[in-house]
Amino acid sequence: MKLVFEKGYAGRRLELVAPLDVPEEKLDRAFLREKGPRLPQMSETEISRHYTELAGRTHGVNDGFYPLGSCTMKYNPKVNERAAALPGFTGIHPLQPEGTCRGALEVLQLAEQYLCEITGMDAMTFEPAAGAHGEFTGLLLIKAWHVRRGDTRRTKIIVPDSAHGTNPASAAMCGYEVVSIPSQADGCVDLEKLKAAVGEDTAGLMLTNPNTVGLFDKNILEITRIVHEAGGLCYYDGANLNAVMGIARPGDMGFDVVHLNLHKTFSTPHGGGGPGSGPVGCKEFLAPFLPGQGTEESIGRVKMFYGNFLVVVKALAYILTLGKEGIPEAAANAVLNANYMKAKLSDVYEMAYPGPCMHEFVMTLEGLKKKAGVSAMDIAKSMLDYGIHPPTMYFPLIVHEALMVEPTETEPKETLDQAVEALHEIYRKALENPEALHGAPYKTPIGRPDEVKAARKPVLRYHWEE
Ligand SMILES: *Cc1c(COP(=O)(O)O)cnc(C)c1O
Repeated sequence: MKLVFEKGYAGRRLELVAPLDVPEEKLDRAFLREKGPRLPQMSETEISRHYTELAGRTHGVNDGFYPLGSCTMKYNPKVNERAAALPGFTGIHPLQPEGTCRGALEVLQLAEQYLCEITGMDAMTFEPAAGAHGEFTGLLLIKAWHVRRGDTRRTKIIVPDSAHGTNPASAAMCGYEVVSIPSQADGCVDLEKLKAAVGEDTAGLMLTNPNTVGLFDKNILEITRIVHEAGGLCYYDGANLNAVMGIARPGDMGFDVVHLNLHKTFSTPHGGGGPGSGPVGCKEFLAPFLPGQGTEESIGRVKMFYGNFLVVVKALAYILTLGKEGIPEAAANAVLNANYMKAKLSDVYEMAYPGPCMHEFVMTLEGLKKKAGVSAMDIAKSMLDYGIHPPTMYFPLIVHEALMVEPTETEPKETLDQAVEALHEIYRKALENPEALHGAPYKTPIGRPDEVKAARKPVLRYHWEE
């Protein structure tokens, strides 16, 4: 397919801007370009076809199954987009008088109330623009609380190795020393290792739960007790609340701070770098430290105004549509779908952790690689030929040749069955003709790009031939 710059003909154009109907203002020459920009010259039909063709070359939740673990690529009701597009929400300015935007303030207040109820927290900020930004904000709350009490010896944050990669990164960004503790063979936190790691220098613990191998830590109450007894606070990475929302609450498990990813669990589509929202909830004693409180203790702003407000509108629309019964039902279906696929695949695929999982599960292709030389990468690439987006690959790092599958609650049984069938067929091919899999995918517009070069030396500009 040609690039848009390689298309078009001199003089062909499309007039979308209405003729000038106000007096023309002449700009100072200093601000003018010497030559006009070189833009492709095309008709509306040509442009429309160009972008439609481009769209056909990608894969989104509207195209097919998208079981990308730890990302929750689910179908988000389009009606929530409508709610966020209402002119009363899109046309307001963050500095306009409060009396003129009561509805928007009510959205923030209601969303805070419901999300606090879902997480078991007392107060929340919507400023953080994404999950990792929320982690950073939450850790600043923990830090501010220790410092306020004059306890400056607490310089370490404990992070189990089953945490999401952003956890240690956020702790380091906050100036903390990261103490990594290994998981047990069953994927849960090793309590003895945790006891040995806590002390007077522990500022807190960050726990991803369900963790990156899709398991709910069965010792969660014991974990928060150990950290609290040592004088630390407990942070809950709730980015993947899909499995537990409306069923179990971080606040009841002993956590002091939690962040959510509204752009995973609460109905904002993501994946194109679009606006996200990582609200941070906390217990009462930390509330004065929240951003934008106007209190002396506040950590200050982490983003202008009210954060990505329209994402909050979608989250509220989602919560109100599903209601008190629908939210736990969605969570239960997410867990059911993951366990259904896990059970169906267990006959040939090796699971990294046996037994029931939460909303996602991790397979290890280490055995197949040894046996047939077929890697997790080969399997993932082959799935593209079946119209399925590959699962998350080579993550979490604690599992070798990992494929991490998250079907989500919005997929029907038929889709799961088709995916299982495809994976079984790919497995057979891997044993019969491993060579063929090294070349997959065969049916996509692009086969295997050089991923390192694409990431390190991206071509982001078109260079015109003069
Ligand atoms: C996605 C994710 C994050 C990071 O969220 P971003 O919005 O990408 O910054 C953190 N923790 C977990 C468990 C996640 O799945």
